[in-house]
Amino acid sequence: MTSTATRVLVLNSGSSSVKYQLLDMADGARLAAGLVERIGEDTSRLAHTPLATGGEKRERTGRIADHDAALKAVAEELAADGLGLDSPELAAIGHRVVHGGSKFTEPTLITDEVVAEIERLIPVAPLHNPANITGIRTARALRPELPQVAVFDTAFHTTMPESAARYAIDTETADAHMVRRYGFHGTSHAYVSRKTAELLGKAPEEVNVIVLHLGNGASASAVRGGRCVDTSMGLTPLEGLVMGTRSGDLDPAVIFHLARNAGMSVDEIDSLLNKKSGLIGLCGDNDMREIRRRVDEGDERARLAFDVYVHRLKKYIGAYYAVLGTVDAVAFTAGVGENAAPVREAAVAGLEALGLAVDADLNAVRSGDARLISPASARVAVAVVPTDEELEIATQTYALVSA
Ligand code: AMP
Repeated sequence: MTSTATRVLVLNSGSSSVKYQLLDMADGARLAAGLVERIGEDTSRLAHTPLATGGEKRERTGRIADHDAALKAVAEELAADGLGLDSPELAAIGHRVVHGGSKFTEPTLITDEVVAEIERLIPVAPLHNPANITGIRTARALRPELPQVAVFDTAFHTTMPESAARYAIDTETADAHMVRRYGFHGTSHAYVSRKTAELLGKAPEEVNVIVLHLGNGASASAVRGGRCVDTSMGLTPLEGLVMGTRSGDLDPAVIFHLARNAGMSVDEIDSLLNKKSGLIGLCGDNDMREIRRRVDEGDERARLAFDVYVHRLKKYIGAYYAVLGTVDAVAFTAGVGENAAPVREAAVAGLEALGLAVDADLNAVRSGDARLISPASARVAVAVVPTDEELEIATQTYALVSA
């Protein structure tokens, strides 16, 4: 790596999509961003935005056969902007990897052994890790000598104590099958908890923060002095908060009940709980904008969905308040957390005795900046902190390869 190599390409490979951003870590500038979707179908689409030149978004449509073809198309688009993957200014590629199990506690330089280990975790991440591995293999084949780094969604949560990470089931069975609580969205929780400390003018070590990552997937975490001590997702992203299409917490016996009495297979129940539950299961919509519109029109199903969502959220705020003992800030982030003022207001309503309150005027402000929405007199700060997982992956990747 030469001293001028300050660019990092961040890749987020899904089963039929690749999201990417090219960042310059010298100044944090975003040089390009894009998405390839419907890989393997006749209707594949690549949308590329050349941010460095301020040029128009470019699109390609038509079959992109596989991840190899997708990445080559991305490389061509970048090259057309003078940002090719063969540029000496490219320092590394950072890959988002969903499941790092208990082993990967930090961003990790990718080797054959690391890929094999990510493969070993496929049973606990059957949807995500295979796609992540495909992205890694493809990128390594394209630039074999370039450092590539895996940044794990689970890593930030590996500091959870055993008391929070263990399920109360037979230990031998749990250990034999890697059954424990891992947590996800870790890159976002790490970034947002650090940014919240910054907003308070403190070091991360000095503050306790409850982070509420409310996107289509949603999770809460309790962060003590910069280290995660509990989080709401578990073995998989199904546990915890009510999400766009996932149920979050439920009595595990619901599964036996449905298998025995509704004649549903394990796969059908899996699909029910992951894809047809949560907000969409409760009211037929998973977009909070649409739900709020329906609530304002007096729609009762939408109202119930909103209330169930907020009730669960409030329970986790209370639980993590108790886990932390003292709380300096509650931070809202991701699509719902950053944009849905009524969710923030309802989640904190009635928690004045815990020192939590939202100022209605501040809460109503729409902004892309990190900001406080609690009254100046509040004991606990309530913040809206836009997440930036790509920047965090690029930062962690660059820190590793430039060390
Ligand atoms: P994410 O997964 O972080 O991209 O969040 C996506 C979700 O954010 C969508 O499904 C919506 O429910 C929600 N969302 C996005 N924009 C808004 C908005 N302006 N108001 C309310 N909810 C929003």
